Parts: sequence; structure tokens; C-alpha cells
Amino acid sequence: MHHYQMLKKIDSTKKQMRAEVEERANKVVKHATTAKKSIVDFPLISSYIIQKFPEVDVSHIPIYVSHSSVMDRQKFKGVGGCFIPHMEIILVRSSIHCHVKATNKFDRLMQEATNAKIDMEDVLVHELIHAVSHVANRDGRSFKNNEEEFVYTNCVDFYRQKGISNERIVEDNFLPFCVENVYADTSLMRSVYYRCGIVGAEGCSVTDFNKMLSKRASHLVPQIVLLAKNMGFQMIELYEKYGRGVVLVADEADATQIPTTRFSCLNFEDMEE
Ligand SMILES: [Zn+2]
Repeated sequence: MHHYQMLKKIDSTKKQMRAEVEERANKVVKHATTAKKSIVDFPLISSYIIQKFPEVDVSHIPIYVSHSSVMDRQKFKGVGGCFIPHMEIILVRSSIHCHVKATNKFDRLMQEATNAKIDMEDVLVHELIHAVSHVANRDGRSFKNNEEEFVYTNCVDFYRQKGISNERIVEDNFLPFCVENVYADTSLMRSVYYRCGIVGAEGCSVTDFNKMLSKRASHLVPQIVLLAKNMGFQMIELYEKYGRGVVLVADEADATQIPTTRFSCLNFEDMEE
């Protein structure tokens, strides 16, 4: 296929995906039990965001608080909330209970290790910082950072204000994200597999591989969780050293991108100070 045709194809797939998300989101928005709010309805969050990002106004972004069952029915499963950039809206569950059914032992153990009970406001502050990033970007400001990392670290002071310790921040808020990042690091995962006695997995089928994972789950899960926790603590440490008070917004408004964390790529503007 010609490069131009390929770009057009990607473009139309993106359009389709957007339209599909829009349709589902609108069903949540229009549901009788969904409540429309804005940042001003959450004074604690509002004063935090204003103090942190004084130049960026997100008060026009509607926040739709909806029942878990409504979110699930529209296939927003496994997320506490989401910011939808092209619609400029936030959807958030009235009570956070992200439970995706585990089909094997590995998934079950991992879920037990990472499934914390989170406050709705803790999710909302995260989504609002995505909105801050999006609005700043739209206004033509150029900052460079990984979107998710930008969001996660800029929530730290909010959790602190609520009296949450670093340990709890990492365990309750950062862990699922950090676990994804450990998964994404193939050389790190390869060494974890090796330590847990999983070798020669390259040639086997997905089903067989999953069987191997489940068989070793009680060794694998704690090791992955430990690596993820260390990553979370490192994120907080780097943020405290270099990032606090610095307005950092992601490159493009690609909030939907799969998170990839490479600490070496953190691009804090006042690194030298
Ligand atoms: Zn996010």
C-alpha cells in the first residue's frame, strides 16, 4: 500500500474509533442517573489544580459522575474514570471498583495485589490533569513529557494534602500503571521469567504460555509487583527532585497512547537547577 493510502486508512480507523467512543460516552452522559458537574463542585480539587496550573483553565470541562453499572454497560470496564480529548468531557464512576473478571491464576493473583479501593476524587484529579495537559496543548504550549507520567506525578501533592503516605500513593494509585510498565519492558520481563524458571517460552503458543504463567504465578506476581512498586517510588523521587512546580505537558494530545515509561526520557525543564 502506498504511504499516503496507509495514512488515510489509519485516519479513517481513528475516526471510526472516535465515533464509537463518542456513542458510548453519550449514552453514559444521557443516562438518567448520571450527574453533570464541573471542577467547581469539588473545592479541594479545584484549589489544587488552580494552584498547580494557574495558567490553564479547565472549568468548562463537564464532569459526568455515573454509576459503575452504567459505565460497565457502555464498556468502560476496568477504568475508574476517563478524559475523552476530542469530546472534552470527563466520565467518572461514583464509586470506584474496577474489577475485571480474572480467567486464570496469574491474573487473579495480580488483581489481588493491585486492586485497591480508590476515592472517586483521587481518580477525578488524575483525569482533570489529563484535561489540563490537553487544554494547554491545544493552546499551543509546548512541553515534553510522557502523558501518563506527567499526570501521575502531578497528583502526588494532592494525595499528600489528604495525608496519604508515599507507600499508599504507590500501592493504591500508581501500582496498576507501574505494573503495565513492567510488562512493557521486555528485557526486564525476560529476567523475571528466567528467575522464575520460565525458559524457552518464545516458541510456545499463547495458551501454553499462559499456562506456564499460572503455574508460576505465586513466584511471578510478587516479583513483578515489587519491581512496579520500586518504579512508583522512583517516579515520586524524581518528581520531588526535579518536577515539582514545573508545568509539564505532554508532546501531542495523545492521552490514549499506551503508557511507556522510560525514566531516562523524562524531560524536566529545570534539570540543571
Ligand atoms: Zn491517565
